[in-house]
Amino acid sequence: MLESTNSANFSTAPWVRGNEPGLFPERALPLERYFPPYVEGMVSNWVKKYASPGSYILDPFGQNPFTSLELARAGYRVLVSANNPIAAFTLSVLSRAHDAEMVSQALLQLNQNRMRDGSTLEEYLSNFYRLDCPNPECQAESKFEVDTFIWSEEGLNPHLAIGTCQNCGFSGEIDLTPAVQETLGRTPSYALTRSQILEKVAGQDPPLRRVMEEVISYYSPRALIALQILLSKIETSNLTQQQSEVLKAMWLTAADQANQLWIWPKGKNRPRQLIRPPLYQEVNVWKAFLRSVSLWTQPAEAVKLREWPKRVPPTGGISLFEGRLRELAEVPEPGLIKLVQTSLPRRNQAWWNLSGLWSGWLWGKEGVKTLRNSLLKQRYDWTWHSVALKKVLTQLPGLIGQDVPVLLLTSELDTLFLFASMLGAQNAGLQLHSAAIDGENETLQCVWRLPTTAQPSFFIDSPQVGIKNSGRQILGQLGEPTHWLRLLTYSVADQLTRGNLVNRPGTNEMLNDLESEYAAALNDPAIFQRFNPGTTPEAGLYWLSKPPYETVCMSDIAEQVVLVELQTKSSLTFDQLCSALYARLSGMLTPPDDLVQALIESYAQEEKLETGTLLRIKARESAAARTEDLRQIKLLLEQMADTLNYRHESRPERILWVDQTGTPLYSFFPIATAQISRILTANQDLPGQKFIVLPGGRSNLIAFKLKRDPNLRLLNSDQWQLVKFRQLRNLAGNPLLNRELFVSQISGDPPEFHTSQLALF
Ligand SMILES: [Zn+2]
Repeated sequence: MLESTNSANFSTAPWVRGNEPGLFPERALPLERYFPPYVEGMVSNWVKKYASPGSYILDPFGQNPFTSLELARAGYRVLVSANNPIAAFTLSVLSRAHDAEMVSQALLQLNQNRMRDGSTLEEYLSNFYRLDCPNPECQAESKFEVDTFIWSEEGLNPHLAIGTCQNCGFSGEIDLTPAVQETLGRTPSYALTRSQILEKVAGQDPPLRRVMEEVISYYSPRALIALQILLSKIETSNLTQQQSEVLKAMWLTAADQANQLWIWPKGKNRPRQLIRPPLYQEVNVWKAFLRSVSLWTQPAEAVKLREWPKRVPPTGGISLFEGRLRELAEVPEPGLIKLVQTSLPRRNQAWWNLSGLWSGWLWGKEGVKTLRNSLLKQRYDWTWHSVALKKVLTQLPGLIGQDVPVLLLTSELDTLFLFASMLGAQNAGLQLHSAAIDGENETLQCVWRLPTTAQPSFFIDSPQVGIKNSGRQILGQLGEPTHWLRLLTYSVADQLTRGNLVNRPGTNEMLNDLESEYAAALNDPAIFQRFNPGTTPEAGLYWLSKPPYETVCMSDIAEQVVLVELQTKSSLTFDQLCSALYARLSGMLTPPDDLVQALIESYAQEEKLETGTLLRIKARESAAARTEDLRQIKLLLEQMADTLNYRHESRPERILWVDQTGTPLYSFFPIATAQISRILTANQDLPGQKFIVLPGGRSNLIAFKLKRDPNLRLLNSDQWQLVKFRQLRNLAGNPLLNRELFVSQISGDPPEFHTSQLALF
């Protein structure tokens, strides 16, 4: 087999995290269920490593308004090319940082535009959601105001309503019997409304009209009518441009809340397809509209936004191009773009279809123009998606210089999205420079560059052999079992940089075929074993069937980094500690957040400051204190051996008790940490009973490590016992100590896990 010495260079870049969790309050963002999950601070921290503020950054997909704004606020100039008008609109509105006062004025203005019957819009729309009060003591007519209707997938009408009586205050769920439904406020004609909307969105365009008819069916008649009335009132009210814009933005988020893609009971719901959940909710459109105020009035400073090719000042801002990258109004002059950074969009039929409907509804046929083709040629399989990503990325060589890094972020990572994004970029002619995954295996940060030389290619017997070697490599580096996505991501990146994925997927090949190929290779029992395997490759943990002899597992390396950082610095911030961890465990080795938290709790005192958590080593964990502990424990073990009439041999790492014939009986390994993987693997064959003696303060950490790592649990077999310093001291101080007492008492009080009060993550 040919081994390239640079083969694993792609995994030397450390993971870049966002702001410390909990430092800033989390706020709901508009339409966030369709955009990549936003991790505040992550993208600007990442970009900072490659470009200085003031630089122009190109975002070729424009599908992440929140990170574009973050970059602009960090002083970058972002050229956003967005062919989804809803994404572009979201970015524009948020860039202006509207204040709540202006929105209240706009709402007042809107309500002055009376309905034909003289009522206000609020009265008129609220009436769609009013029932007679079900409270026998009240029964007031049309006073129970529904917040939410609950539907079942097959229902012709909702079967439950949740709301409050404006008369008696009765609040709760009521059964919508036919008699109760009779009392519900009337709405204007559905057929008329529907055809008005279709006319506006698709006009004389039968193919587009057919698509839109389907999308519209994900609104109940009541919701559709309410939205249509609301929008036409916004359009015909006497509003400033700013007021009109923000009210349309609020209409947009109400239009999302009112469709049938919301699971009941409320859950995290990120729809990717137009499918009604078994139970779904239909919100009161007017209330959803009012609730939307907070989504569009985020507490942040305004960002300068101009239409490309207009430039923004070097202090930062956004040049927005609404359209496809290949139609960019003016090609940036050579050297302008210093960096490309983008969130790769996910395959999402629900988002693109709804965007089509909303764009047409808001802006007519012109609004839906850039989406028309993709709506008609609907293909939403991953193989197609990979080609779609490639088509956009192929434009880059014409827009950027040779030395410009291309930072691609893949969120909500899964097997096929991984293949689609990696092969999409490769097939667009880019070369992978580095890849880092987060500890939870949810997000991938890749740095690509334009090709400088031909891709190195090392021909290996078969793809299967290559994939297996990649898998063996990452598991060897980790020294512990891992999840499918970490294993797969490394293997794909490794195979890709070796040139083994050139021309994949081939003709008539699907990304699912590649998935099967990798799953087959990484499940070869001669090399790999799995803990808790399931029917899909994602289930369980992957490990080597023949683990290396002396391994230090990732969690032990992470512990060592934390310990050294804390012992050698008087204090450090959470961010600094994470940077040290990710630098040592780079690329695909990133430790998960729960492990980092367990390590911090074990060793550090925390001081919460406004700027972040400050960490200091606990007094009893200082290097000097622990050295003294170990010295005492060793002394104690030697004295106990004398008391029990055993001979003892002291080695640097262990103290051995042997009987009078020289047969080893007990080996003691005193340590001050919970780093046991190397001791366990290196002393597997040592005869006799083996004890790892460690501080009680390590109990939680060691229990946590054993819980997360099934290989460590296996190694920690019956021949091994974990003993706290405290237990040994108690025994040594017992005047009745004899051999029987030692055997019966040594295993009492084992380390156990206790839930902690602290929760950083
Ligand atoms: Zn009532």
